[in-house]
Amino acid sequence: MTDYKHTLNLPETDFPMRGNLAKREPDMLKRWYDEELYEEIRKVSEGRDKFILHDGPPYANGDIHIGHAVNKIIKDMIIKSKTLSGFDAPYVPGWDCHGLPIEHKVEGMLGKAGDKVDFKTFRAKCRQYAAKQVDGQREDFKRMGILGTWDKPYLTMDFQTEADIIRALGKITDNGHLVKGYKPVYWSVVGGSALAEAEVEYQEKTSTQIDVRYAALDEADLLSAFDYETDGCEGKERGEGEVAAVIWTTTPWTLPSSQAITLGADLGYALIQCEVNGQPARLILGEQLVESAMQRYGIEDYTIIARTLGARLEGKRVAHPFYNREIPLILGDHVTTDAGTGCVHTAPDHGVDDFNVGKKYDIGTLNYLDDAGIFRSNVELFAGEHVYKVDPKVVDVVTEKGRLLAQAKMVHSYPHCWRTKTPLIFRATPQWFISMEKEGLLSTAMKSLDTVKFTPDWGRNRMESMLSQSPDWCISRQRTWGVPIALFIHKETEELHPETSALIEQVALRVEQEGMDAWFDLQPADLLSAEDAEHYVKVTDTLDVWFDSGVTHYSVLDRREELRSPADIYVEGSDQHRGWFQSSLKTGIATKGIPPYKQLLTHGFTVDANGRKMSKSLGNVIAPQKVFKSLGADILRLWVSATDYTAEMTVSDEILKRTADSYRRIRNTARFLLSNLNGFNPETDSVAWEDMLSLDRWAVDRAMRLQEEVIESYDSYNFLNVYQKVHNFCSLDLGGFYLDIIKDRQYTTQSDSLARRSCQTAMFHIIEAFARWIAPVTSFTADEIWQAIPGQRSKSVLLETWYEDLKSLEGDELGREYWNSVMTVKHAVNKALEDARKESVMGGGLEAEVTLFANDELLEALGKLGDELRFVLITSQAELKPLSEATDAVDTDVEGLKVSVRKSAHEKCDRCWHRREDVGTIETHTTLCGRCVENVDGKGEIRQFA
Ligand SMILES: [Zn+2]
Repeated sequence: MTDYKHTLNLPETDFPMRGNLAKREPDMLKRWYDEELYEEIRKVSEGRDKFILHDGPPYANGDIHIGHAVNKIIKDMIIKSKTLSGFDAPYVPGWDCHGLPIEHKVEGMLGKAGDKVDFKTFRAKCRQYAAKQVDGQREDFKRMGILGTWDKPYLTMDFQTEADIIRALGKITDNGHLVKGYKPVYWSVVGGSALAEAEVEYQEKTSTQIDVRYAALDEADLLSAFDYETDGCEGKERGEGEVAAVIWTTTPWTLPSSQAITLGADLGYALIQCEVNGQPARLILGEQLVESAMQRYGIEDYTIIARTLGARLEGKRVAHPFYNREIPLILGDHVTTDAGTGCVHTAPDHGVDDFNVGKKYDIGTLNYLDDAGIFRSNVELFAGEHVYKVDPKVVDVVTEKGRLLAQAKMVHSYPHCWRTKTPLIFRATPQWFISMEKEGLLSTAMKSLDTVKFTPDWGRNRMESMLSQSPDWCISRQRTWGVPIALFIHKETEELHPETSALIEQVALRVEQEGMDAWFDLQPADLLSAEDAEHYVKVTDTLDVWFDSGVTHYSVLDRREELRSPADIYVEGSDQHRGWFQSSLKTGIATKGIPPYKQLLTHGFTVDANGRKMSKSLGNVIAPQKVFKSLGADILRLWVSATDYTAEMTVSDEILKRTADSYRRIRNTARFLLSNLNGFNPETDSVAWEDMLSLDRWAVDRAMRLQEEVIESYDSYNFLNVYQKVHNFCSLDLGGFYLDIIKDRQYTTQSDSLARRSCQTAMFHIIEAFARWIAPVTSFTADEIWQAIPGQRSKSVLLETWYEDLKSLEGDELGREYWNSVMTVKHAVNKALEDARKESVMGGGLEAEVTLFANDELLEALGKLGDELRFVLITSQAELKPLSEATDAVDTDVEGLKVSVRKSAHEKCDRCWHRREDVGTIETHTTLCGRCVENVDGKGEIRQFA
């Protein structure tokens, strides 16, 4: 028996079946960096339209987690797809380097600045620490295949950047947005610093709630505001006992700072006759809250003897419960009837509403607490007490004075410091603010949102609602590791120096050289005249780190040659509507009057398979490092693309395993194409479009249409769509149809025949395009494929633009519609064959002969394929007959088509495995079919269609 194996064109490629990514990717990375791939991309992109994605800086502390990985991979997919779309899309990664968390780490190592170690050494250590964190994170980002200027990232602690942050402050000051004020801000008594809104988190806390009586100073005057009931309390209508307004508070420690009681102007207030401690008493309460309050006080027997509206009580006076202080009754919009008494104890030092309503009535702050939360020495009764511990003492005093009506514990949601996890207090302190109103910043910012595109589009509402609620932005911090608020203020008037703008530039020039220490080392006399130096002092506060990152449009986009502002897009997690997107918008408007971005894209957070947040205690943390060290970075990247980022992004070991399965489908498809390009030289072997077989042209056309969809999906940042389309192309169009059919032609026709070269030409076009489609997602694999495609080519697929040699089937005799209907017929026949196989009528399709009973239309269509219909159906024989002749044929899902399957009675050809009548009839090759003999000895088989 002759072995015909050597006469077949069997597939062959060096492209490995197994990805082995964890091992192979580092080698590829080494090549990318040895060959300076990123710089090469810049070179080929030179002169093209720019596309600027501005990197939101991660904080330089700790290892990167899966959220960082998602964020950077999405950015990388955008950058790479934009490069493929013909843009010059540089990527300058950045890090946020100043701020409290790093300061805390260094405190842990060295002790507090100014205490165990001098400030300068402390800052140097912070700088060193941040640099090391950057190094660690950078290695992981690079390992994931993210390309950028890793050797020259932007760091907010670069001297140049620090100088430009100061310049941005100068610009904002010039434009009139900077104001100094006393204001209650979230204050961490443990950190000794004001906190940004974004640093506040809510946790449950048990507090003491108390109800306290504030006795009337002039009873007759107070009572004159009430209308008396005429029925039921005749003669006693004015009642008896002390008259008092009752307040309710969950922060007893604020009572020393109590300066007013706020009422709702339109709320109804009741005068209650009752007994307290066995004595007759008259209490003033919001009428809707009387019942719940009385329950709290355990008073069952009471009568409403008079009523009034809050507005009529304005200006009446009561006494502070334990100080000799007159407390006015005032009116405010923030009084509600949800809880309490309707009479709101008001301490402008410790609440925003209190502060604002106090301002209206000209009631200032008292400043009783120092930075560490200790009552100052001038505070009667409580000097030296800590704010966290003083509540019981306040309650004791109130009780002693006979002012307490009720006390109880309550659990409520209370603001905490995100870093130290300790309860925050509101505290009025001198701070620097960017005013939302003074120069119309808020309204300009709101209006400017019209120019910003949001992906997903609900981002706009979110941004608007957060922006509209944003109070003046407190940008000052009392910290060590931060960019200085480099201002001189007058000792007495606290006014800014009239030359502030010029002074800031002088400071910036020094900071450019020496870093921000230049400011801290500076003496006023170094820059100011001798006379001014006597009257002006340096501000020693540092800037909120959100200011640092917020002005990177100024310090980075405007500064770096390869970038520009406004950026085309900012891409961050959806929490940044509140954080970086806001700080960037506000500083963009405050410096230049326009938003620093044209588009905002947000992605969701990562959660486990059950939708839970990742946490060490739940044991559901997926570390990106573990994924790229075991499965490979391409699996992580493929998972990101295959997950809808507009919602929460689910990840688990199981999900990643499934991703690895999908990856294999993509890889195997590429491998099949490459292995069948064996011996194909695109320069000499390509077949002209018009000479290609119809089915091959269909495949190229299909790839072209897919490419249009892929590009459109990338353009709209719909990576999930890219993933699904490409995956379907691999499994349905190629795996389930085209590649299945062409195997026979590839293997059995003559190696240089038109039949085979036509098919190779199609596969060549497809793999050229395919490598590019997947390059933004599975960059390593795409580049690996790229190296294995025959023909002259550039060093990396990442240097390419979309493939342009795909062609359209438009105008072909057997067009798209035609082949689509053939595809449905083939599926129907496959099903019939599968059923027959299940019933053990026969084995594979080549054991079968089929007869298709078709209506006239189908008969004519399928008839066009002639004898090649059997190659399309992958059966040894395929006949067409009119539907009317169908007797025992089975129905199919295709209208007008019935199929009958029978086992072939003929011998199997040794070479092509088709069962043909002529096997054994040809003397020279007794085990071959006729067309195999033609392919082995003759001129070779001619194929027209498939
Ligand atoms: Zn044969």
